[in-house]
Amino acid sequence: MLIHDLKRTCSKCDGSSFQAGYDEWGSIQTNLQKLCPACSGKGYIFTELGKNLWKLYRPMIQELIREELEKKEAVQK
Ligand SMILES: [Zn+2]
Repeated sequence: MLIHDLKRTCSKCDGSSFQAGYDEWGSIQTNLQKLCPACSGKGYIFTELGKNLWKLYRPMIQELIREELEKKEAVQK
């Protein structure tokens, strides 16, 4: 599986994370460096496969983080 199967470069901002085409929409001041609304400034968008994998792995990752935090707390006491 390739990373490309999970996410792809945002076509709206072409991966720049910022809203393009400010000259079409209005003044430069108001729209310059506005985060791209399509990808929320990430520059990429998850594919359906990426979204599903994230849903699958997120609980496991959260569990790992929780365990690590508990270990740290145990050391401090
Ligand atoms: Zn974008």
